Amino acid sequence: MGDPVIETEEHQALRDAVAALGKRYGREYFTQVVAEGKHTDELWAEAAKLGYLGVNLPEEYGGGGGGITELSIVLEELGAAGCPLLMLVVSPAICGTVIARFGTEEQKRQWLPGLADGSRKMAFGITEPDAGSNSHRITTTARRDQESGGWILNGRKVFVSGVDIAEATLIVGRTEAVSDKGVKTGKLKPCLFIVPRDTPGFSRNPISMELAAPEKQFELVLDDVRLPADALVGDEDAGLLQLFAGLNPERVMTAAFALGMARYALERAVEYARDRQVWKVPVGAHQAIAHPLAQCHIDIELARLMMHKAAHLYDIGDDMGAGEAANMAKYAAGEAAVKTVDQAVHTLGGNGLTTEYGLASMITAARVARIAPVSREMILNFVSHQSLGLPKSY
Ligand SMILES: Cc1cc2nc3c(=O)[nH]c(=O)nc-3n(C[C@H](O)[C@H](O)[C@H](O)COP(=O)(O)OP(=O)(O)OC[C@H]3O[C@@H](n4cnc5c(N)ncnc54)[C@H](O)[C@@H]3O)c2cc1C
Repeated sequence: MGDPVIETEEHQALRDAVAALGKRYGREYFTQVVAEGKHTDELWAEAAKLGYLGVNLPEEYGGGGGGITELSIVLEELGAAGCPLLMLVVSPAICGTVIARFGTEEQKRQWLPGLADGSRKMAFGITEPDAGSNSHRITTTARRDQESGGWILNGRKVFVSGVDIAEATLIVGRTEAVSDKGVKTGKLKPCLFIVPRDTPGFSRNPISMELAAPEKQFELVLDDVRLPADALVGDEDAGLLQLFAGLNPERVMTAAFALGMARYALERAVEYARDRQVWKVPVGAHQAIAHPLAQCHIDIELARLMMHKAAHLYDIGDDMGAGEAANMAKYAAGEAAVKTVDQAVHTLGGNGLTTEYGLASMITAARVARIAPVSREMILNFVSHQSLGLPKSY
């Protein structure tokens, strides 16, 4: 086991190899794909072929046998090259992890090889319009279909990414809890269901977003969606545990997404500040420009350290420890990305807002990491309550 702080040679080699792949595509490729309303299919396919997309999944199902540490390296380096792949957060990190840890043998054989080699993608839907940050309030409900022994799902989801390019969506629903005596308690417990894209009753409407990204967000309607019994992933009674098994990797990967973007923006700003001269020296010689960029570099490095810690704790099976670290890493990375992109835009003056330099469109993209998958305030709430033991306001 390598030192969690200082990277192993294998991790460094993976980082260098992914960075080289990212550089061959670069920001121009990504911008072009977005402008044409397409997806990053070529990069996705090549990264898959090189084994990067399934690096965290078990070897016996076609993955690389690594963990979230390795997958976060892949996402961070592609982002630092200007090509962040949002579906890496969802498909192999959340869905792949949940299926690998809690799926039946049949589900693993059906899904993991495709998620690992990139030929199949899975989206993840938890957010609901009326629940928002309060996921205890989600009302998408699954009830047993007495005739078939399967499930019937009803509900609505919102902001779910990549549903159009994913063969299925892992939907967080709730089933009615039953007491030891077999009586329905009226309480609902979370459960995870694989819903294939074309299942009757499962419809999607794209949400128009101010984001320059190839992945789209969707509102989903589940209207009497009938699923077979084996659509349920894992144990009906251990839903929360299974959910957290997917949410911690999601936070680590969002940190990687944010930090890749922040590194890309910082590099562009530094290049510009070194060259651009309007007085006797380059603008980067003025401390008003240099110091904020130095602060951004420090913030990025601190967030990366926490991300490594979170990934390491998760990979060694410390779900509790990983929970706190993953939240803190996501918080620090989101804040570093928002600050760095803003500072990078400012460093370029008017050019910061031009299409040619491509930084302004990253302002909204960076804000995503502050809002999703869990907002800055909800992480501060988590740390206040769980880490510091302070009382709740809600
Ligand atoms: C680009 C993008 C992609 C997304 N992809 C997915 C996806 O693939 N799957 C999915 O399920 N979801 C996805 N989401 C949804 C995302 O996870 C939610 O937007 C996020 O959890 C916040 O929920 P909300 O938008 O309902 O905000 P709300 O919960 O309505 O919050 C609004 C504001 O109030 C604050 N707030 C709320 N409660 C409290 C409190 N108790 N204390 C202090 N402040 C509070 C919040 O921090 C926020 O600033 C995505 C969102 C975006 C923007």
